[in-house]
Amino acid sequence: MMGHLDSARRPPSEVPFVPMILQPRDVGWLEVICGPMFSGKTEELIRRLTRASYARQNVQIFKPKIDDRYDEESIVSHSDHKLSGVAVSDLDELKNSLTPQVEVIGVDEVQFFDAGVVEFCEAMADSGRRIIVAGLDQDYRGRPFGPMPRLLSVAEYITKLMAICVRCGNPAHRSYRLAEDPQQVLVGTEEQYEARCRRCFHEGYPSSDRAEAKESI
Ligand code: ADP
Ligand code: ZN
Repeated sequence: MMGHLDSARRPPSEVPFVPMILQPRDVGWLEVICGPMFSGKTEELIRRLTRASYARQNVQIFKPKIDDRYDEESIVSHSDHKLSGVAVSDLDELKNSLTPQVEVIGVDEVQFFDAGVVEFCEAMADSGRRIIVAGLDQDYRGRPFGPMPRLLSVAEYITKLMAICVRCGNPAHRSYRLAEDPQQVLVGTEEQYEARCRRCFHEGYPSSDRAEAKESI
């Protein structure tokens, strides 16, 4: 007979997703996928958009030009899943690239767009389209990122993903910055950021920074 695992060594269990049971008919809607870096936001966005294209829906995918990691013309996840898309410098360029017959619109790294993106998403959903956006809900200090709070409040469907804390293996909801650079936007990869849980996030920063990060929430 196997004994019980020591609880401190038991791996964290997965929290099951609540499935999307109610599918709207004849109306548009907004879906937001959020979470820290490495939580699989891009993967999830690609999964949903691929399925929409299998269903022969007209799909277009965008991302801001600021994120030039890996590939200019496609959306690429950290695990190397890809989907061809258009890199745009701003919201105007995105709007100009839309085709009139588009039914499903995907936007990756949506936190980098300005506040106008909220109105845009609402307009697309109001016009009967399905719009799916993915982005970081918190910056490296744990502060709400750009237009994300408003997008989350107007969306019909929200998916908050977590990564795995690289220090302790718990679920991680924060992106910890290893590089010392005070600007909010520092596009990076594995070398500059790591996924961390609440405790490891606070333990990593010097105490003065920690107080500041708490105050700003
Ligand atoms: P995001 O868009 O949220 O940054 P991606 O979809 O690009 O996430 O990448 C998710 C992938 O990152 C995972 O499938 C896994 O292969 C990889 N990965 C690297 N580090 C971690 C980590 N600490 N926790 C979970 N996944 C990680
Ligand atoms: Zn941790």
